[in-house]
Amino acid sequence: MRKPLIAGNWKLNKTLAEAEALAKALVKELADVTDTEIIIAPVFTALGRVAEIIADSPVSLAAQNCYPQETGAFTGEVSPLMLKDIGCQAVIIGHSERRQLLGETNQFINLKVKKALETGLQVILCVGETLDQRESGEMLEVLTAQVKGGLADLSPEQMTNLVIAYEPVWAIGTGKTASNEQAQEAHSFIRGLVQGLFDPDTSTACRILYGGSVKPDNVDGLMAQDDIDGALVGGASLNAEDFSRIVRFNKNRH
Ligand code: PEP
Repeated sequence: MRKPLIAGNWKLNKTLAEAEALAKALVKELADVTDTEIIIAPVFTALGRVAEIIADSPVSLAAQNCYPQETGAFTGEVSPLMLKDIGCQAVIIGHSERRQLLGETNQFINLKVKKALETGLQVILCVGETLDQRESGEMLEVLTAQVKGGLADLSPEQMTNLVIAYEPVWAIGTGKTASNEQAQEAHSFIRGLVQGLFDPDTSTACRILYGGSVKPDNVDGLMAQDDIDGALVGGASLNAEDFSRIVRFNKNRH
């Protein structure tokens, strides 16, 4: 009922030549995939070239960030309109690296979410607790603030073009994946929050991705969980073979 979605966040990696090579390899490996939605998110400078390479493939394009204004005096920023113009269908918003390194708040993230949706981009909204927050028992409070803050003022209709990614910060780039049970517990909690904010249909239809050291050898177990609808993949999305195996997760266990 919820189509699985596997998204690759390339972060600050790949020159133009390297991005072209990876995009070409993915188009070749994933040409026949129809039952899983696939998104890749290269750096801004590679978006235009990658858009051309993946144009006739099942792979869609996302940016890793945007600014919540269309045009204006915002030096160094890129707007949702410009992302759409260059061929993006989606944008990642609120990644923990931006929350931590660049001080992005839930309020600022919400402005970006609204602008991106208004522009017609699909939004991947990232949420997740740090290790300290988990260990001090604040996890549910943090997730509640991030989900409520990020989704403030949205309509159920807008929610149909938004995906939530649960990414426990302690599992990102560390090789430490949340256990299947830990991930399922957080996803089920987030789905409950969406139901409280909107309605049962909206929460049932909302896709929630897991992110945090997803690899070919742990994706099957994660995807077998009831409330895990896909993955946001960092490190393993930089390798065509690994990312393709993740896209082709073992559906028999689902
Ligand atoms: C990410 O960047 O969103 C991520 C989950 O990274 P990694 O897979 O490397 O942990």
